[in-house]
Amino acid sequence: MAQKRDYYEVLGVSKDASEAELKKAYRQVAKKYHPDLNPDNKEAEAKFKEANEAYEVLSDSQKRKQYDQFGHAAFENGGAGAGYGAYSDFGGFSDIFDNIFGGGFGGFGGGSRRNGPQKGRDLQKSVTITFMEAAFGVKKEISILKNEKCEECGGSGAAKGTSPETCPVCHGSGKVTQTQRTPFGAFQTSAACSHCGGTGQVIKEPCKKCGGSGQVRKTKTLEINIPKGIDDGQTLTVRGEGEPGKRGGPNGDLYLEIRVQRDKIFQRDGYDVYVELPITFAEAALGAKLVVPTLDGKIELTVPEGTQPDAKFVLKGKGVPYLRGTGRGNQYVIVKLEVPKKLSQKQKDLLKEFDGTCEGSTHSKKKSFMETLKDMFS
Ligand SMILES: [Zn+2]
Ligand SMILES: [Zn+2]
Repeated sequence: MAQKRDYYEVLGVSKDASEAELKKAYRQVAKKYHPDLNPDNKEAEAKFKEANEAYEVLSDSQKRKQYDQFGHAAFENGGAGAGYGAYSDFGGFSDIFDNIFGGGFGGFGGGSRRNGPQKGRDLQKSVTITFMEAAFGVKKEISILKNEKCEECGGSGAAKGTSPETCPVCHGSGKVTQTQRTPFGAFQTSAACSHCGGTGQVIKEPCKKCGGSGQVRKTKTLEINIPKGIDDGQTLTVRGEGEPGKRGGPNGDLYLEIRVQRDKIFQRDGYDVYVELPITFAEAALGAKLVVPTLDGKIELTVPEGTQPDAKFVLKGKGVPYLRGTGRGNQYVIVKLEVPKKLSQKQKDLLKEFDGTCEGSTHSKKKSFMETLKDMFS
């Protein structure tokens, strides 16, 4: 697959571009490569689509946030054809275009929004994964109950062999205009056509399977690639896996919130991993080689003689892999000194004997503390 260009680069704006700047940049690029102005120019058409795709993502603050976080990976689930493919006929995105150009461009735009193509509703779901799955990525099967296009009627809602007809009341516009005469003159108001519900079409014989709605409720199982480095609370967009669009509009998207289970040993802060290592008084004093768990398995850590409580050791590059690009955070090992409890008589005697051998230099902090105390009260 060809490498996708960075969306900001496509529009020629910086990463912190404002909404207004994005819009302006998109308008320029879209004008330059618009198919009406570049007939039979495949390269211009590709650039035009690329700009539409970039603008579609960057103009939506939630999608932009995800793109900033994950790059193109944010939208790669759902496959080709599910997402932007739906825009290839320029139908689905005419709304964006209308908003920007005021429908002034020939070829499309104009007409009523109400009976034009409409994007399907977005869906939300959460999925819980383990600490390790979040660190290294995982493929998950998830099931969602959602509306799908009715196969029997192809989504039209009309019975097999028939098709929806143009509404005889509004003649397909979806609107009815009424003229009111008042002492101040006549003026017109326009309202949604009640005969067709504003769709501009009527179904004489509804599809038996979906009852005319064009959609059926179904449980769908999806295989989702959850990328390495993802963290609790982050959201993945699965393009085109929301509810189906209407009148040729694109499907909605599925927003998948990631929840990460707590781990018994590892704690995470960004891409860094923290492990608390219990250590005995003797190990701390004498130094020791201790087994430490890392995300890649166990390693041996040499704790030097005289290690203090809460001492911190760093294992470079042993943290969580970055979501974007290569590299990893660090692992930090925090030494937790365990003071022994429930000593036997023999152990007590040994410790007392040990204490008796201690001089000022054995416990330098204590020594200086005692000296300060002495000065204070003498
Ligand atoms: Zn009508
Ligand atoms: Zn149907």
